[in-house]
Amino acid sequence: MSILSAEHLDLGYRRGLLVVRDLALDVAGGEIVTLVGPNGSGKSTILRALGRLLRPQGGAVYLNGEAIHRLSTRHVARQLAILPQNPTAPEDLTVRDLVVRGRYVRQAWWRASSAHDRGVIDWALASTGLHDLSDRRLNALSGGERQRAWIALALAQEPRILLLDEPTTFLDISHQLDVMALLQRLNAENGLSIVMVLHDLNQAARFSHRLIALHHGAVYASGTPGEVLTEEMMREVFQVEGVVGRDSHTGTPTFTPIQSVRPSP
Ligand code: ADP
Ligand code: MG
Repeated sequence: MSILSAEHLDLGYRRGLLVVRDLALDVAGGEIVTLVGPNGSGKSTILRALGRLLRPQGGAVYLNGEAIHRLSTRHVARQLAILPQNPTAPEDLTVRDLVVRGRYVRQAWWRASSAHDRGVIDWALASTGLHDLSDRRLNALSGGERQRAWIALALAQEPRILLLDEPTTFLDISHQLDVMALLQRLNAENGLSIVMVLHDLNQAARFSHRLIALHHGAVYASGTPGEVLTEEMMREVFQVEGVVGRDSHTGTPTFTPIQSVRPSP
């Protein structure tokens, strides 16, 4: 059964001006799904709607079969955590303060934090390699460290579904691989479902069960990385000519770009 789905989704920021039209989407429990598409194709908009941060103008998002906009914030937050593209927090917060906030949505208001809460916070900090930085203020972190702090916040929620918008964008290659390995492990060991937006198509192909390629706010293709990452898709959706190959380590498809084929204005 699908854990998260959308039907006839119309999304936009101003009434009558749709960015995404009549979108259908289905995420199975335990799946890693990655949205790919050029700038402005609607990836963040869709992710925000899936995470209940943006109210659809038409259609609906369903969490375990229930319309998500009818559910309480607390109910949603126990199932789903979202890391938006540019999250903001008071800069004088420490890493631990930020991660502790991930537990608020979990705790009953009358109950102080328990040993379990503290255990989850320590686990979230350790999983993201932040244990030694936990007392550092957010404004004294590098971009990559801050990004990991936000991921730790999402993990502290103990979600069943994690939505991530370009979680590796500010990271160097080794930290990118750490984040992808962490997500892969959480998926394999805890059955965490993941929907994310990635810019790096080769990483998307390597770490996802399924890719969804978006073109002007609509699904152009959805399927295994091999089905979606094709030279034709790259030409039509990304307007780039190149060659599809095979990752010699993982056997997953790769794309080597040659040149842009965007028509001149
Ligand atoms: P992507 O994440 O694929 O780059 P977005 O979902 O951010 O694309 O944007 C899709 C379209 O929606 C773009 O045309 C963008 O200009 C528009 N858009 C995004 N955010 C806003 C906003 N807050 N207000 C108005 N338009 C927006
Ligand atoms: Mg975006």
